[in-house]
Order: sequence, then C-alpha cells, then structure tokens
Amino acid sequence: MKYDVVIGCEVHVQLLTKTKAFCGCENRFGGIPNTRVCPVCLGLPGALPVVNQTMVEYAILAGLALNCKVASVTKFDRKNYMYPDLPKGYQISQFDMPICTDGRFSINTEKGERDVRIIRLHMEEDAGKNLHLEDGSGLSYVDFNRCGTPLLEIVSEPDMRSPEEAVLYVQGIREIMQYLGISDCNMEEGSLRCDANINLWIYEDGKKYETPISEVKNMNSFKAMKNALQYETNRQLKEWEEKRITLKKAGKVTRGFNDKTGKTVVQRAKEEEADYRYFPEPDLKPIRISKELVEKMKSAVGELPKAKRARFASQYGLQSTTSAILSKSKALADYFEESVKGYREPSKIASWIITELGGYLNSEGLSIEECPVPPKEIRELMELVDRGVISSKIAKEVFSRMTNTGKPPEKIVNELGLNQITDRTFIEELVVKVMSENPKSVEDYRRGKDHALKFLMGQIMKETKGKANPQSTAEILREKLKDG
Ligand SMILES: [Zn+2]
Repeated sequence: MKYDVVIGCEVHVQLLTKTKAFCGCENRFGGIPNTRVCPVCLGLPGALPVVNQTMVEYAILAGLALNCKVASVTKFDRKNYMYPDLPKGYQISQFDMPICTDGRFSINTEKGERDVRIIRLHMEEDAGKNLHLEDGSGLSYVDFNRCGTPLLEIVSEPDMRSPEEAVLYVQGIREIMQYLGISDCNMEEGSLRCDANINLWIYEDGKKYETPISEVKNMNSFKAMKNALQYETNRQLKEWEEKRITLKKAGKVTRGFNDKTGKTVVQRAKEEEADYRYFPEPDLKPIRISKELVEKMKSAVGELPKAKRARFASQYGLQSTTSAILSKSKALADYFEESVKGYREPSKIASWIITELGGYLNSEGLSIEECPVPPKEIRELMELVDRGVISSKIAKEVFSRMTNTGKPPEKIVNELGLNQITDRTFIEELVVKVMSENPKSVEDYRRGKDHALKFLMGQIMKETKGKANPQSTAEILREKLKDG
C-alpha cells in the first residue's frame, strides 16, 4: 500500500521574561506553590491585565527569525474553558489577529533541505499545574505559579512527512529560540512543549484517502515524540486496513502519549473553535506595532544557526559536521570563536573542543556555560603543544588538571615539571640504555620487523613518563639502531 505520513506541529515556547504576561509577578520555574501569584494572574474580580512589552518584542523577534510577516495591528482574545488549573475560566490568547503569520523554516532532511510553512505565531498565557497524588489518597493539588507565564504558540502547516522530520523541525525551532535568547526550551521543565497533528494519505486504486487526524499530546522529549508518532503511524495503518474510516467520517481526536507503555490513548474528541467561544479581550486594547519597532527587532535577530554554520565552514575552514556541532548552541559557538582568536589552526582547537572538552562536559553533566575552563586557556594549551613544551598526550593530562584546579595550563606545566624533555644528550643516553635492556627487540628491528621500533619507543616514554619529545626521540632511536 502506498501512503504518506502527514504531520503538522504546534509548538509552545515559554518566554524568559522577568515578569509574567499580564502582571508583575516573577516569571520563574518552580518555587513554593502559589507564592508567585497576584489578583491578575489568579483572575480575581476587578483585577486588570497589562501587556508585558518584552513579550511582544520577543514574539516579533521569533516571528522575524522564522521569516514571518509581522502584523501592524494585533489583539488579544479570550479562549474560554473550565479546568481546575485555569482560575479565570479563560486563557488570554490570540484568535483571528495573531502577531505573526506566513513564515517558513527549512529543515535538513535525508533528501535535502525542505521548507516547512508556518501558519502563525501568537502570544498567550500559560495555565497553572495540577498535581495528582499517587499515594492512594485520591487528593489533587493545584499550583498557580505558572499561571500567566508568557508563551508563544507556533503553528506549522502539515508539511512534515515522517516522525524524524517532525523531530528535526521541533529541534530546529528550539535551536532558534535558544539562539535568540528568548527561551531556554527545557523540555523537562515544560518550557518547550509540542503537540503534533498526524494522519495518513493513502493511495488506492488511483484515489487518495485521508485517515482521521490524531492530535498527539504529552510528548516530553524528542525520543518520546519520535516513538509516539511512529506508534501513531502504525496504529492508523492498521485501523485503515480493518475499518477504512476516513477523516470526513471521524474528524479529529486528541490522543495522549504514554511514555511507559509506548502507546497513544484517546483523551477526547477534539474541541472545535466554536467550543471555546473566543471573543476579544475587553480589558486589553489592540496593539499597534510600529515600523520602527520591527526594524529594531530585525537588527536584534543576529546570526542564526544556518548562517553561522556556513560562516564557520568558510571562515575557519571547518568540515560541515564540525561546524554543525559547534553551532548547536550559541554559547558553544561563542566559546569556540573566543578560543581561536589569533590562533592559526582553528580546526585543531575545534576538534579539541569537540572531543576533549565535550567529553569532559558530558561526563560531568555540565553545559558549556558552566565550563570552568575559559576559552583562551584552550588556545594557550594548544600553543604549548605547538611550541614543543608538552606533547599532545601530556596536554590531555594538563587539561584534566585545568578542569580540577582552575589553573591556567602554563602554571600547571611548570608546577608539575611536565615540560617535554628535548635535551639531546639526555635522550641519547636513555636510548642506549633501553636498547641494551632489550636486545631482542633491537635484533628484531634490524631484521626488518618495524613493530619493534614502536615497542622501544614505548619503553623510552615509560621511563620519561611520556615527557620525551616524540619526534627527536624517534629520530635518535632510528639513528642508533642503524649504527649497530
Ligand atoms: Zn500575577
């Protein structure tokens, strides 16, 4: 059977503003429940919302980065529904006049680069959080600290054709938001949430059939997202083969993904727009967005990941995979650029950052922002190797001490006497000694067994704890072996 998987995404991004969307409460994750609240975000009678200007600016910034049109006038609307974590009984959102529309964002798929169209990007406030105790008491609590947190909702056209593409898209959106510095997009803390609409286009007997759309929720990681959408693809295929229900007949259903069972289950038949009784928020005037503000935001967008990757490749001569790794986060890209300032072989530092520094951060569970080694010290370490003061093997040891002690590389080398041995007479004596202790290897080498040379080198390095300069040692060793 020939079919296409068709996926569209709704991404919610929590904004890193100091205060909430419509009141002065602090906007921060966690805290003692119900301590970051006020009459406005609790929806007490008579309380009036005021629009957070930074939220509007961040929305424009995100819209521009996603190649959207920015509206000249935008307004807020009430989306009405009853739920325990929504004290007002409605959410302030945007309905028919969103701040940004008609964007596009390109993803790098296996089959090459492709544009995903973005229908709209709008501002809204978050709800609180329900906490259902699992101690058999049946009790539930609600924490309103998150109420009124500013969100952006980014809605795409159903342009993704596989679970992998959907993941690439959301990862790309996350990268851009982090680059702009407007959200940390931490999926575990819920500051990036994604719902996906998925169905199949099935081609049979020259006709195209569409299966009912599932809106899949509760995908709390990229892995969960891929699994959920893969599960949903298979489930819809099976359902089509058994029941042949079409989209026209069944419409749209909301399904929640359970990470433990790996399955999606029906939550509810999808509400239609009419169910929410949207109407203009009477307490907030429409906002006029000036050309000046849009221009100001345009210049604040800065260099985005794709452009940075291209520049890294051309300016520093890096391989495309290396550029891609280093530009994964703006912080890492900045670290790299700072470390190669005035250094002639950027690719050498690039690979050190990816392997040694990356390995260290990984094993310690640190982010690049938490890295105890300043970028210029990576350069200083490389320069010590270049000048022949230490070998690249010793450099690894020095680096490990840099992370533990916070001392600069040169100081560590001096304190521990790790400087390379380059004294020719000293090395010559050592070579003679090692040769006399290993007559069989010497003989082997002279009979043409090259691996014996490696063994003898190893013995010399062992004697000097790796400090003998490898080039001159190898040279002297070869000379002496020839002499015999
Ligand atoms: Zn408040």
